[in-house]
Amino acid sequence: MDIQKIKAQLPEWMWNTIDWVFPPHCLGCGVEGEIICPECYATIKRVPVNVCPYCNAYVSTSGHCPNCLNRKPAYTQFRAYAFYGGVIREAVHQLKYQNDIGIARILAGYLLKVIQAENWQIDLVVPVPLSKSKQDQRGYNQAERLARPVAGALGKPISTEGLSRIREKASQVNLDVKSRRENVRGVFEADPAIVKGKRILLIDDVFTTGATLESASQALKDANSGLVYAVTVGKSDFNVN
Ligand SMILES: [Zn+2]
Ligand SMILES: [Zn+2]
Repeated sequence: MDIQKIKAQLPEWMWNTIDWVFPPHCLGCGVEGEIICPECYATIKRVPVNVCPYCNAYVSTSGHCPNCLNRKPAYTQFRAYAFYGGVIREAVHQLKYQNDIGIARILAGYLLKVIQAENWQIDLVVPVPLSKSKQDQRGYNQAERLARPVAGALGKPISTEGLSRIREKASQVNLDVKSRRENVRGVFEADPAIVKGKRILLIDDVFTTGATLESASQALKDANSGLVYAVTVGKSDFNVN
């Protein structure tokens, strides 16, 4: 019996009862009791304070990394909660393929820590959309699963209509950074009626090259949005995803 699947069908107020009857097992070590146990939580590699605001590469002082010195992405700042690996990788995987709302709530809590530490002033929360065919196939958008509890906690509106993915990108695997950027150009379209003048918090699950966030932010700016801030749960090393 897949408890998480059953849980996803039930209203939130029933989850605590379900967890009490069928305690979750830690995604990292399998111990019964919590989705991420304190020992596994302690192993999460947080992205440190001194990182490049565009790609989160480590920098010894504040400022941009050498790769981003001459770049000006459409987003103002990006931050990931942690490096993609270990229990974070398991959690994102579970979120992406198991529609696990319990995990979405935990990961959303991690995103909130980042957002509150940065003190970003935002007006609208926007999850990075899937294409319609992909969303129909999966049944949900994992970025939206993260964005809803974040918007709720911040007391800000969320829009799933403000940004759309208008075409599928080809597979990113085996492409270098430059080709990945080319590959996602024109993938997104934003609705000025929704985003114009709004400071946007863009949410996604994993940052790999930043090409997706860059393309999504560009579409928002093209629709005259205000500043765009981007946050993800994981920052993956290129080609590890
Ligand atoms: Zn554990
Ligand atoms: Zn950088």
